[in-house]
Amino acid sequence: MSFLSQYWPIITPAMLFAILAIIEIFIPRRTLNLSRKWRWITHALFLGTNNIIGRLLAFIIIVPAAANWAYDNQFGLFYMFDLPWWVVAILSVIIMDFAVWLQHRLMHVHPLLWRMHSVHHSDRDLDVTSALRFHPFELIVSTLYKSAWVIMLGVPLAVAVFFEVWLNACAMFNHSNIKLPKKFDRIVRLFLVTPDMHIIHHTTHRDEQNSNYGFALSIWDRLFNSYNDQPRDGHNGLTIGLEEAQNDAPSKPLWSFLLPFRNVE
Ligand SMILES: [Zn+2]
Repeated sequence: MSFLSQYWPIITPAMLFAILAIIEIFIPRRTLNLSRKWRWITHALFLGTNNIIGRLLAFIIIVPAAANWAYDNQFGLFYMFDLPWWVVAILSVIIMDFAVWLQHRLMHVHPLLWRMHSVHHSDRDLDVTSALRFHPFELIVSTLYKSAWVIMLGVPLAVAVFFEVWLNACAMFNHSNIKLPKKFDRIVRLFLVTPDMHIIHHTTHRDEQNSNYGFALSIWDRLFNSYNDQPRDGHNGLTIGLEEAQNDAPSKPLWSFLLPFRNVE
């Protein structure tokens, strides 16, 4: 039990990953464009670098340091009010989710940030492993950004860790290649970003990439006018990835890691 309570931030995502990966085999939404082998090898490497650089930085060093510093100094919005812990927890998750939505939008606007984020978008298929495909540089930027929010808000450490796991779980879900009943999608989409909603963000059309930025809650795109209900080319006709990289290069590790340094517009 203590093993589980100590390692749940690693065990839960790993289990969810396995479950989604198995469901993808039985009820896939789309047939994949590229062979799984190279894509999965590349994404496994991303998992490796991101776990070493990102997770270590996020879970063990920076986010705890930020949360502890805020606690020690009673710094941050929530420490100014005497709120019950569960109110702080709920508000933290909602506001942090907005912060991540905003960060994602900025990733698409700023050319330097887009260079890093385009690695994620260069994937020519979407499945549960796409949620791992983030350049380590993007993860570093994102960890520092989230830590700043943790300090500003005064998010407790346990909530900050929970949020990381929750966000990760949502990303795995909405990148997964699973055919869900339309009705289920409609209902879930009212609150959470579904695979059919997120895929629109991954088509080759720029205007569609600049919509549906949400990772967990779907409300921000509706609220800030970036919600897109259906892909222009339909779910069966859409093309995933970058317009300029419709070959098998995105499945290769070196190409993917070096993409931010290339002159891809
Ligand atoms: Zn994006």
